[in-house]
Amino acid sequence: MSTCIFCDIIEKKSPASIVYEDEIVLAFLDINPVTKGHLLVIPKKHFRIFTDLDETTASHLFEITLKLSKAIRESDLNCEGLNLFLAEEQIAMQKVFHAHIHLIPRYHNDGFGIKANFTMYPLRKELNTIASQIKKQKI
Ligand code: 5GP
Ligand code: ZN
Repeated sequence: MSTCIFCDIIEKKSPASIVYEDEIVLAFLDINPVTKGHLLVIPKKHFRIFTDLDETTASHLFEITLKLSKAIRESDLNCEGLNLFLAEEQIAMQKVFHAHIHLIPRYHNDGFGIKANFTMYPLRKELNTIASQIKKQKI
């Protein structure tokens, strides 16, 4: 067993209900699903957090997430929508430090939600200042 539960799942040292696997990506059902069909999509290589990923791996991760999203929408799960969720670092609620995307099917009255203090109508000047802080980085 390694110190990473997701690496153990990739190496088949721990059980998981796998729905997709290729050379780069693995997708399996979350052991504590917030809704029926809650999936985790992970890179097979161990990256601690999302922003450690290289672009090739990230592109493939999102391509497979899109394909899985379409598969879920067309499946007999009969969900009415989807949420994607990604946590980076403890402050953002990351608990397993092997980067992963949550793919969460949504159903009427499923109880899933995100608690937030939505700011009402921030000033355009304030929004533009924040935009320029991000834009000045190399993207
Ligand atoms: P995080 O908060 O890090 O984004 O979420 C980690 C997720 O991994 C949680 O939803 C948790 O239920 C799931 N998880 C933790 N350990 C295991 C496990 O051993 N197997 C599976 N399938 N999911 C796990
Ligand atoms: Zn790992």
